[in-house]
Amino acid sequence: MTTNWAGNIAYGAARWHWPETVEQLQELVSRSRQLRVLGSRHSFNRIADTPGDLISLDKLDPAVTIDRARMTVTASAGVRYGQLGQQLHQAGFALHNLASLPHISLAGACATATHGSGDSNGNLATAVAALEIVTASGERLALSREESGDELNGAVVGLGGAGVVTKVTLDISPAVAVRQDVYENLPLARLEEHFDAITGSAYSVSLFTDWQGPLFNQVWLKRQAPDGAELAAEPEFFGATRAGRKLHPIGSLSAENCTEQLGERGAWHERLPHFRMDFVPSSGEELQTEYLVPRQHALPALRAVLQLRERITPLLLISEVRTIAADELWMSPCYRQACVAIHFSWKKDWPAVQQLLPRIEAALAPFEARPHWGKLFTLPPERVQSLYPRLPEFRALLQRCDPDGKFQNDFLRTYVFTQPGLP
Ligand SMILES: Cc1cc2nc3c(=O)[nH]c(=O)nc-3n(C[C@H](O)[C@H](O)[C@H](O)COP(=O)(O)OP(=O)(O)OC[C@H]3O[C@@H](n4cnc5c(N)ncnc54)[C@H](O)[C@@H]3O)c2cc1C
Repeated sequence: MTTNWAGNIAYGAARWHWPETVEQLQELVSRSRQLRVLGSRHSFNRIADTPGDLISLDKLDPAVTIDRARMTVTASAGVRYGQLGQQLHQAGFALHNLASLPHISLAGACATATHGSGDSNGNLATAVAALEIVTASGERLALSREESGDELNGAVVGLGGAGVVTKVTLDISPAVAVRQDVYENLPLARLEEHFDAITGSAYSVSLFTDWQGPLFNQVWLKRQAPDGAELAAEPEFFGATRAGRKLHPIGSLSAENCTEQLGERGAWHERLPHFRMDFVPSSGEELQTEYLVPRQHALPALRAVLQLRERITPLLLISEVRTIAADELWMSPCYRQACVAIHFSWKKDWPAVQQLLPRIEAALAPFEARPHWGKLFTLPPERVQSLYPRLPEFRALLQRCDPDGKFQNDFLRTYVFTQPGLP
């Protein structure tokens, strides 16, 4: 347990802790001089690391409470989306969206603005209606939409810097079945002609490409399929052809790890992610990078990446393009702008990927690309900071919750606290 999921980060913590109660956690936080919390370890960079105390919430009570009147669910912050999804589904409720994998924790995913896809779907953190946090002094702080307003918007995508999130309250809606259909070989030219129609054609749309040509190898359409609704899957989709067998986004891998396709209706939590909870997500051996560009820049941004295909292809497993709705969360890449996310699953060769990323970042620079907080990037800190208009307020919020900087680590110091030009 000393490395992240991908195995590319060995955590540098001097001490590890698994508190069993919030009171034990409070005591631990008040005593510690430097600490971070770990979710399910799925981030690819050092965002979760610290040289001090590293805390896992895996032994806290995983209780889940549904409030039917308010249409919310409250769960322990370390609960995995897959576990929560199952319990909500059994009770007849759903979350608005999920990431490609259900293995990640609620607080860890929200802290980095983890997202799925869908023109109308905000990232997962947009469902947060309230948070309970143990701040640096060991005291409990409750933030909610009703009581805390904009401060909650600042704390939700908190990069782990405001304190230990112990409970997360999320908006829920009535459960709806979802079906998933996959199409092969969508020409880029058709996407250019019909971008809005294609990304708006289903509840969640994912486009996969290996950049070998102006083509998306696979299109995954996740459509809500309420009882009694007759949904046909046309044999053709903007020039792409319906797949006759289940596929993995990485064409050479078995589709066994993937959620059901071929139009079979199923529970929302078993269709919105691409990967199944009880299987290894994605390839299991990889690094990831993702850049989010404002939606209006999507097509030129995709063309700019395509120009680099000869450099990208030797290192790439697969790329995925998704859409995300605008939100009000200060440190979300989608703050007040709908975005298109361009994702890269890389072969596990960091020296080579590290050399390539500045080229991709330069190609995407005209399009205000923001890197995913939980993945690998090489953009200079001052560039990253310049992309977040609410950064000064975020800094002030973290300083109020953590005046001595206990929760600060190298990642936060680099991308949040170091102010270019100041000593
Ligand atoms: C195979 C794979 C597929 C992925 N697919 C997607 C995808 O579809 N979409 C997407 O957007 N991302 C995706 N990711 C990235 C992933 O969702 C993010 O890195 C996410 O942050 C991981 O959550 P985690 O629980 O593992 O958090 P960790 O990586 O453990 O931690 C992330 C951050 O959250 C903080 N944190 C965790 N728990 C708490 C807490 N209780 N209180 C305060 N801070 C806390 C940590 O300190 C750290 O800063 C994928 C990653 C992998 C490995």
